[in-house]
Amino acid sequence: MRKKIILMGFLFVALVVSCDNHVHIWDDGVVTNEPTCTEIGTKTFTCTECGATKNTDIPANGHSYNDGVITDDPTCTEKGTKTFTCSACGDSYDIDIPANGHSYNDGVITANPTCTEKGTKTFTCSACGDSYDTDIPANGHSYNDGVITDEPTCTEKGTKTFTCSVCGDSYDTDIPANGHSFVGITCENCGEHSVPVSEVGTQYTTTDGLLLTLNSLTHTIQNGYNKYSINYTESNNTEGSIIGPGNFKIIYMENGVFDSSFQTGAFNNFYYGDTRTRSYTWTLTSTQTIVCVEYLPNSLSSEYIFSDTPTDALLNWTL
Ligand SMILES: [Zn+2]
Ligand SMILES: [Zn+2]
Ligand SMILES: [Zn+2]
Ligand SMILES: [Zn+2]
Ligand SMILES: [Zn+2]
Repeated sequence: MRKKIILMGFLFVALVVSCDNHVHIWDDGVVTNEPTCTEIGTKTFTCTECGATKNTDIPANGHSYNDGVITDDPTCTEKGTKTFTCSACGDSYDIDIPANGHSYNDGVITANPTCTEKGTKTFTCSACGDSYDTDIPANGHSYNDGVITDEPTCTEKGTKTFTCSVCGDSYDTDIPANGHSFVGITCENCGEHSVPVSEVGTQYTTTDGLLLTLNSLTHTIQNGYNKYSINYTESNNTEGSIIGPGNFKIIYMENGVFDSSFQTGAFNNFYYGDTRTRSYTWTLTSTQTIVCVEYLPNSLSSEYIFSDTPTDALLNWTL
């Protein structure tokens, strides 16, 4: 009987709560609609007292994208694609991968430059084979220091030739003529004379009209002296004329300086038909050497007798 009363009491309380405005006592809820990546879900709670229910939203999960997979490789010049995929729903999106750009090598000489022509260096992309060229400047010639291919003379210019050791190209430059190196009146290099020289043994007509032949001009050394001897013949074959006598002088050098010594002696006029042959010897020191002997016609004697340098106004002879 007592047990029955207690049970009755519980039922009474329960009836009162369920039938009255009671405070629901919610259970822990049950997911009645699963959320997706993009759609909200539903959780339903039930009152443990009265069985009433209520719903609450469950937020959408959001996508669970992977780290991305390259779905289109970029090339040197074209961009590629990386695709990110949701492991839950399979949704995906793409991003661009920039083009790689070319990977050119350091270049290979594909055409060697020459002295005058430029060459070519070719740079090639190891990825796609694309290539481009750059110029290599021409080397320019490598000329040597020049070789004398034509020696200059006293009066003629010479030639110096410069040759490229690579291609053999060459060009010439002039070498100036040396000019004469006169010792006295004679060039020691080519033998040219600075004044006209007459020939021993040849007859000349002097400015005064005498016929003159220098028969000989000799040099001997005696007792350390330089002896210069002449033998000459003068004649007057101009009818009715009287020609004054000429004479000779020797021009010599001493220590590079000209000096002269004239023939001494008084001679008679030449009448028509006169012919005289004479000899004369100058005695000079060992350091006085002949430049030439000159003939002074009577009419020019005063003008040139003290002149120490050769002149083309007078006949002269040399050794
Ligand atoms: Zn309730
Ligand atoms: Zn998703
Ligand atoms: Zn490339
Ligand atoms: Zn060259
Ligand atoms: Zn010369």
